[in-house]
Amino acid sequence: MARSVRVDRGARVVVVGAGFAGASLLRHLPPPLRKPGETLLVDRRDEWEFIPLAHEVAVGRVHPGSVRSPVAPLCRDACALLKAEVTGVDLDEKVLHTSGGVVGYEYLVLNPGSVATPPPAPLRDHLQKFWSVDDALALRGALAGAWKLATGTAPAPPGALTVAIVGGGATGVELAAEVASLFDYLRRRSHRRPREAPRVVLFEATDRLMGWLDPYFDRVARQTLANLGVEVLLNTVVDEASGSGVRFGGEFLPAATRVWAAGVGAAPLVRELPGEHDPSGRIAIDEHLTLPDHPEVYVLGDAGRYTHPKLGPLPPTASVAVQQGPWAARDLKRRLRGAESRRGRPPFRFFDRGYVVSLGPEGGVADAVGLKLRGPAAQALYRSVFLYYIKSRRDRLLTGADWAMERTIGRLGFGSDGTSPVGGQQEKHDEGWRSRDGPPGRVP
Ligand SMILES: Cc1cc2nc3c(=O)[nH]c(=O)nc-3n(C[C@H](O)[C@H](O)[C@H](O)COP(=O)(O)OP(=O)(O)OC[C@H]3O[C@@H](n4cnc5c(N)ncnc54)[C@H](O)[C@@H]3O)c2cc1C
Repeated sequence: MARSVRVDRGARVVVVGAGFAGASLLRHLPPPLRKPGETLLVDRRDEWEFIPLAHEVAVGRVHPGSVRSPVAPLCRDACALLKAEVTGVDLDEKVLHTSGGVVGYEYLVLNPGSVATPPPAPLRDHLQKFWSVDDALALRGALAGAWKLATGTAPAPPGALTVAIVGGGATGVELAAEVASLFDYLRRRSHRRPREAPRVVLFEATDRLMGWLDPYFDRVARQTLANLGVEVLLNTVVDEASGSGVRFGGEFLPAATRVWAAGVGAAPLVRELPGEHDPSGRIAIDEHLTLPDHPEVYVLGDAGRYTHPKLGPLPPTASVAVQQGPWAARDLKRRLRGAESRRGRPPFRFFDRGYVVSLGPEGGVADAVGLKLRGPAAQALYRSVFLYYIKSRRDRLLTGADWAMERTIGRLGFGSDGTSPVGGQQEKHDEGWRSRDGPPGRVP
């Protein structure tokens, strides 16, 4: 097609986003597309983050380097790579506007994922977000600082060791369980007693934790969290936050650490596309995972809303994204061979493998392939699922080693007084933990 805009570069297939969906698609590209001139990957970052393990990074169980992988090896000789921010899609001209120029495409695969929707204005300035490995490291630093203050000799404000987590979805639940387990670990291993008891308070606006999952998840999570000492406040909206705590229903909870773990929305890039959007901004896609009016544009992963004939709209999870990527690669292969009809292109098939949620180092809850599991069995499943999802052999080994070393070496970032080294010392300390020749994270 002749374009009326000047195009700086292009490829037959342009893939935006090297996350779960994009990476799994690239690994399954058919041979005719495995060439730099045929396929172009655009991502704004050099590194991709395996974000489902962020809560384990925040409590020092997993090294940040184990969950960050460089994007470049995804391409090798199979595609060209453009590091750029995509700022807009012109569907009529079949071009992308990016910070690195205008990119033309024949087929476009959009996988820009989700963004954290910011907390409402009265909370915004006083809650930490939890959406990236950097956020997890910021939280790790805050928790270590809080432990140091509460076990030190200087006076500590009320709530110095209280963590308020807003949002009882899977992210908030997993984080609450990890933070409670961390405090338990620090209490057992530290020679200094905190002057106030640690508290973890989880706020959820509805009457259920992880409301989109089977009620079994809520039941098991509430029992496990109670055993870990987490206070769960259902039907409770946090209306205000300050630098010293949070306010809800006329009560004030002093809390030095306050985390926003609620609210997910589709990436802005997708919100701006014409089409039918759900309240979180995900755009409706058809049985071939493409835009109904633009069959040359696939939208995969968190950004697209695919409605399963029986299960309804699929949730924005990694397990959906990693099934859609390879499926789209196979669909492209069929189209390159000339199949455009329904018969030649079977619709996307989702295999419902179920869900698994971690509840601290020893716990979990799962409903997978017809089995309802809890406790260590669910935790073992959780670990095997994630080791399977981590496609780089290096990262898989590192994460497995982090889990194995935890028992012998301790928590990363929590030194003998429970604190993290700060500033430029942090990376050095992390590397010392990894190479075992620096200060271990053990709390004597
Ligand atoms: C804290 C947390 C915990 C989670 N835990 C789980 C879990 O336990 N299990 C589970 O199944 N799911 C979990 N998820 C959800 C899971 O991470 C997402 O479903 C998954 O990442 C979606 O994959 P994706 O490919 O759509 O997007 P992503 O993996 O987010 O990748 C998007 C990519 O697009 C790039 N990008 C975005 N916008 C642009 C742009 N404008 N220009 C250029 N590049 C761009 C980004 O840099 C990124 O590389 C969790 C999410 C979070 C935040």
